Amino acid sequence: MKPEIAVIGGGYAGLACAVALARSGKVRVTVFEAGRVLGGRARVVARPDTPLDNGQHLLIGAYTQTLGLLRSVGVSPTVFESLPLTLAYPDGFLLRAARLPAPLHLAVGILRARGMSWADRRAAARLIRHLRRLDWTVAPDRPVANLLLDAGQTPTMRERVWEPLCVAALNTPVREASAQVFANVLRDSLAAGASASELLIPRVDLSELFPVPATRWLGRRGHTIRTSDPIRGIRLEDGAFWLDGGPTWAGYHQVVVATAPYHAGALLEGFPALGDLTRSLGAMAYQPTITVYLQFESAPPMPCPMMGLTGGPAQWLFDRHQAGGPAGLLAAVISGGGDHEALTHADLELAVQRQIEQAFGRLPKVAWIQTIAEKRATFACTPGLARPANVTAVDGLWLAGDYTRGPYPATIEGAVRSGQAAAGGVLSRLG
Ligand SMILES: Cc1cc2nc3c(=O)[nH]c(=O)nc-3n(C[C@H](O)[C@H](O)[C@H](O)COP(=O)(O)OP(=O)(O)OC[C@H]3O[C@@H](n4cnc5c(N)ncnc54)[C@H](O)[C@@H]3O)c2cc1C
Repeated sequence: MKPEIAVIGGGYAGLACAVALARSGKVRVTVFEAGRVLGGRARVVARPDTPLDNGQHLLIGAYTQTLGLLRSVGVSPTVFESLPLTLAYPDGFLLRAARLPAPLHLAVGILRARGMSWADRRAAARLIRHLRRLDWTVAPDRPVANLLLDAGQTPTMRERVWEPLCVAALNTPVREASAQVFANVLRDSLAAGASASELLIPRVDLSELFPVPATRWLGRRGHTIRTSDPIRGIRLEDGAFWLDGGPTWAGYHQVVVATAPYHAGALLEGFPALGDLTRSLGAMAYQPTITVYLQFESAPPMPCPMMGLTGGPAQWLFDRHQAGGPAGLLAAVISGGGDHEALTHADLELAVQRQIEQAFGRLPKVAWIQTIAEKRATFACTPGLARPANVTAVDGLWLAGDYTRGPYPATIEGAVRSGQAAAGGVLSRLG
């Protein structure tokens, strides 16, 4: 009999963990997911005619573990619309990485950029040089805004490049975001090479992207995925973990808690040895992400699938049609907290519409708008944040999720790496 392992949470971390465990061939895995749909914070949200995600997501070429995992469960790379790193604004500002080896891809991109003065170009090179000289280590960690000051960034570089990149990657505004984590992201994307900085926009919904193929892959190998099956408690008795889920308690050799941090605390409460951990999870702060989907009766003229926006709440606008979606469907993304949080959805939608109109001129008629607000989209990625490890003080009980210790902010890649690391822990304990 193979040891039974339970994974609590069917988000990207939990499923990455389950696939890694299953691949070893040494264990039998059961994934418990509270919701009806797999994917957690990266999932499809049903709308009768058009499947919408709970938020527009963007992946990049540097997501090596995620891309490898997708390939391993049979997902074709054509699920992504991929384009070279492009920061384009409706007023003509354009910074596009050249299809050249690093660091030429960036250097040539900066030289050819439109809307950047020579002072801006020098400032861009200065920040990368500054971080390289520090060997990408910002000690002591500080807000990204201070790093930009230290490296003498111009207003254009701040407003058109670094601030939108920071909030897109860390989901935390520059005045609060960790310069160290931002440096990690720049190191592994911008500075790593043309393919690492490539932008990957999913052409399928986020549940179809990985959770559904992963479930099929796991099912074919005799593992179990149980949706609509929330775990209400964990208890350790006679050397086994007993989970309160489904109709009854069931026993497992090891357990991976792969929920968001705000759900993990309740599951760990029964373990006195984890008091400090549950308190630190309880103290975690979060940042919201809001996506305003606008379905126009005909397609507004967007020259590329993803563009930056200024002068309003949204930072990025995606043309879903250019990434396999219906014609005329746009997704405006508002990452991180700010004044917009005080607005009602109706007022926010008006503000976003006005912002898009200012950018592109008169728009076609809107057929419908749907706003999806994720109040706790990600943990607030602040300087010096202490993040928990995968291993806990209870032997055989593990954590996985985008919030565990690692170089990246709360991202799909962070979640996948964490799931794989937890699986590594489970397997090494089995010897
Ligand atoms: C709107 C939005 C936009 C984002 N944009 C991007 C982006 O562009 N690029 C990017 O890389 N990342 C982005 N992210 C972040 C990314 O989605 C997350 O980092 C990642 O999905 C987290 O995965 P996870 O598995 O760690 O956690 P989760 O996705 O939260 O998964 C945890 C799962 O556990 C389940 N669960 C909780 N409690 C229980 C229980 N008691 N029993 C059973 N199951 C339980 C939940 O239902 C959930 O399915 C975005 C997030 C949001 C919300």
